[in-house]
Amino acid sequence: MSWTVEDSEALYRINRWGEGYFGVDDKGRLQVLPVVGNRNVTIAIQEVVDELLQQNVQFPIVLRFHDILRNRVQELNQAFGEAIAEASYGGRYFGVYPIKVNQMREVVEEIVDAGRPFNYGLEAGSKAELMAVLSLDIEPESLIICNGYKDDDFLRLALIGTKMRRKVVVVIEKTSEIAPLLRLAGEMQVRPIIGLRTKMRVKAEGRWSESSGEHAKFGLTTSEILTTIAYLEEKGYGDCVQLLHFHIGSQLSDIRYVDDATQEAARIYARLKKRGVPLIYLDVGGGLAVDYDGSRTSGHSSMNYSLAEYTRAVVQNIQSVCDYEEVAHPNLVSESGRAIAAHHSCVIMKVIGEISRNTNSFDTAAIDDEHDLITGMRALQAEVLDVENYQEAYNRVSRYLDDVLNGFKLGIIRLEDLAKAETMYWQIMRAIADGIRSKEDVSEDLRDIDEILASQYLCNFSLFQSAADTWAIDQVLPLVPLTRLTEEPTRNCTVADITCDSDGKIDHFIGEHGTRSTVPLHPLRAGEDYYVGLFMTGAYQDVMGDMHNLFGRLNEAHVFCDDDDPTDFYVEEVIQGTSAGQVLNIMQYNPTAMAERVKKSIDAEVRAGNIRPREGVGLVDLYEACLNGSTYLR
Ligand SMILES: *Cc1c(COP(=O)(O)O)cnc(C)c1O
Repeated sequence: MSWTVEDSEALYRINRWGEGYFGVDDKGRLQVLPVVGNRNVTIAIQEVVDELLQQNVQFPIVLRFHDILRNRVQELNQAFGEAIAEASYGGRYFGVYPIKVNQMREVVEEIVDAGRPFNYGLEAGSKAELMAVLSLDIEPESLIICNGYKDDDFLRLALIGTKMRRKVVVVIEKTSEIAPLLRLAGEMQVRPIIGLRTKMRVKAEGRWSESSGEHAKFGLTTSEILTTIAYLEEKGYGDCVQLLHFHIGSQLSDIRYVDDATQEAARIYARLKKRGVPLIYLDVGGGLAVDYDGSRTSGHSSMNYSLAEYTRAVVQNIQSVCDYEEVAHPNLVSESGRAIAAHHSCVIMKVIGEISRNTNSFDTAAIDDEHDLITGMRALQAEVLDVENYQEAYNRVSRYLDDVLNGFKLGIIRLEDLAKAETMYWQIMRAIADGIRSKEDVSEDLRDIDEILASQYLCNFSLFQSAADTWAIDQVLPLVPLTRLTEEPTRNCTVADITCDSDGKIDHFIGEHGTRSTVPLHPLRAGEDYYVGLFMTGAYQDVMGDMHNLFGRLNEAHVFCDDDDPTDFYVEEVIQGTSAGQVLNIMQYNPTAMAERVKKSIDAEVRAGNIRPREGVGLVDLYEACLNGSTYLR
């Protein structure tokens, strides 16, 4: 049976994590289907790459598919709308996008624009984020939610927003924020909209569990909520408390936590409402997960529920508690960030080389006075293919290599024999790996051979800049080649970046059963470029990266679909990443002074007659060009 694009789709689980946004065309190219449900608009990612290469754009690059972003905003808002209609729920949905997930102006502007019909709003967690949010033009009914710890300036900025007639909600994270808020509101003569963040009893398991439970960093305990409300009433601000907020963590992979949290919060909401607190919004925070590995499980890179299930859970849990307590249904707010932003961007990088275990190619032909161990290995090599007793062959070849190494240490094996032994060892291992591929029940030892033989594909990118969570918390992100998907990928690989850090590698990939340590890729061909994409980097990864080894931000291309264009797309703009000079500047170097100093040294060599003047000028020009150039490999 020959390999088909369906085989590739299944192998890389594209339909599982892709949410319909990705597929493979009949030429074996990975494609983007930015408009879910419209299979006529398809963008072959390699065509975008080729166009950018033609424009001499430096890779690696972040590609942003704005249509995916818009579609995510629509899907979320529509899902809430449908859940509300289906349940005959009494409130409306006013979602907000928390910009910390991806603060790029173009990203936030696209989200704002797509969210306009839904009165979709924004959430800020710091002064800088709030300043960004206040500069954007959102609908008058849309909410601006201010979370995070707040100093006077943060509170003033929020109140400026209120003066601008925006619906800014100041969420109180900590009781000490109340007095300054009221003081500043008095000074600036505005009535703030106040939200209260409740510390939740339910504790989500997983990576962000610290956001909930008794020891959470944020939020008010029940007694703090009651004293805060009493204080606000006493000061004449009781009518300003409109929103109850909670957030128990990001990437809630089990729907159970959503159920528990919404039930608990709805009960608090209802009881406060019955005490006369004029609440009208219940904000369920973030946490809506993304199925990075496509396994549809409660594993931490996955989720065991769909978007529709999530919105139904939120709506129905809150509805049933409020009905029971006989209070009006609140308007619903969610702060889903990851689920909005993750799918729209990817990092495209070129595989620039292979670090392989089986490139040993020393001539292993027999010579007269070679050591018996070498002769023995050669005999074993001839046998492997016949006997099909792979376990025995594996045991014996491992033993041979040990003996040869010991012999070498003792001085009885020559360097040439060691080179032969190494070469034959890897050849035999490969023969075993090929032999067991079709076998069902093989031992653990033999299963590991594939991993031992795995090649490292060296890619022009920095993990620390482009996929921080892969390094920090073993987040699995899909990695797929852009082309050749009509061919079986026969190399099992790990992926190494170009930083000088041995942690700069990816060795967690999507597997059939959970994760696997290698990803199948195609053998590299001489003279042919091979690009791979790291997908779903739009939430957090794009903006959290650091400058390890001084690799800076990547160039970015903003891609839009256009059904009338033969390629179905156009690149609206390419945003320059950070140059070497800019990165150095952040580290307190002065690129101009650096270039001057280098020039001075070279001039001195020219004067001393060690460098020809023309050559000297060229060297200085090169240094300056590199300062202005990319931090990545050209
Ligand atoms: C981070 C954060 C969010 C976003 O969470 P996602 O899981 O990405 O949707 C929402 N609200 C608050 C308070 C947060 O801290």
